[in-house]
Amino acid sequence: MAGTTMPSPIRVEEDEAENIARINEIKRERGDSLIILAHHYQRLGVHACGDVVGDSYHLCKAAANTEKARDIVFCGVRFMVTSAAALCRDDQVVYHPDRNAGCPMADMANLPQVRTSWKELSEVTDTEAVVPVVYMNSDLDLKAFCGERGGIVCTSSNAGKVFDWCYERGEKIFFFPDEHLGRNTANKYGIARDEIVLWDPKLPYGGLEHDQIRKARVILWKGYCHVHTRFSVEMIEKTRAEYDGIKVIVHPECTEEAVAAADYSGSTGFIQDYVVNKMKPGDKVAIGTEVNMIHRLSVQHPDRLVIPLVRSLCPNMFKISTGDLRDCLENLDTWEPVRPDPAEKAFARVALDNMLACAG
Ligand code: SF4
Repeated sequence: MAGTTMPSPIRVEEDEAENIARINEIKRERGDSLIILAHHYQRLGVHACGDVVGDSYHLCKAAANTEKARDIVFCGVRFMVTSAAALCRDDQVVYHPDRNAGCPMADMANLPQVRTSWKELSEVTDTEAVVPVVYMNSDLDLKAFCGERGGIVCTSSNAGKVFDWCYERGEKIFFFPDEHLGRNTANKYGIARDEIVLWDPKLPYGGLEHDQIRKARVILWKGYCHVHTRFSVEMIEKTRAEYDGIKVIVHPECTEEAVAAADYSGSTGFIQDYVVNKMKPGDKVAIGTEVNMIHRLSVQHPDRLVIPLVRSLCPNMFKISTGDLRDCLENLDTWEPVRPDPAEKAFARVALDNMLACAG
């Protein structure tokens, strides 16, 4: 199968080439005053227009460290864009080409629910010893909630270091909203099964006995990514049976069973590095993550086999087209900027800065 590429499953925009040419023209005109950040899950054409491309952690770092750019255009979903807006300077402006691009997992936790849960926790255990950890995939008010309580933001590329950081400061981690990243990180960390509990925000006290809460070292919010929980052990076994010698990588938002069955698990940054730098011509890999990224890697590396475990597309990441990006850039002076509430920004920034400081 060496040298084989999967057929393109992704619809290409009719006027993509024209849009990209116009986007590049605007980039040249605006020079250093403009920077475009693009997540790995963005469409091929949009990804190609990014000045910085990467996972949410690296894009956040880029937003925090951008010195010359005044205008930051973020091609990703809403939680990434608001995080960048919280991290940038007051003289910088962040724009989102499609404000409707959200994240269903981020929507699985909201501030009233988290506040209620925290109050219930405080009735059972000393919350001074509980460190709240919010996944990057969350609304800014939840990051502010964590920042206000000495907590931290984590991403799939730094979750292990975040656990170290937390246990230097407390005894328990309250992790939301993705149970799978939390559980996979806790497993890797060697935390015993009966010290990892699942908190269902729809039930009083998360549906847990008080003793379970007191004993827990990790309390996981019941939330998930529908794109990543599709990948199963059966798919991994079937792929291995079909392609001799193939390696399997899954994202840590997948179930613990899928992670245990795979050869490797890692963030989009890890996956990108594996395909680009670790694979040799003729090698084969099946990946359990969003299909746009896998498609792009297979197109960019036709000398190796890069296939999805199964086609799983994030419709929100897919929303931004080169046409949307072009529209945003052509109308930047009147495009509505993303401006967080100042108090929310200040507390969210505490949790985001803790993340940047702890992961280096
Ligand atoms: S891939 Fe999953 S976590 Fe990422 S934006 Fe889409 S729904 Fe949200």
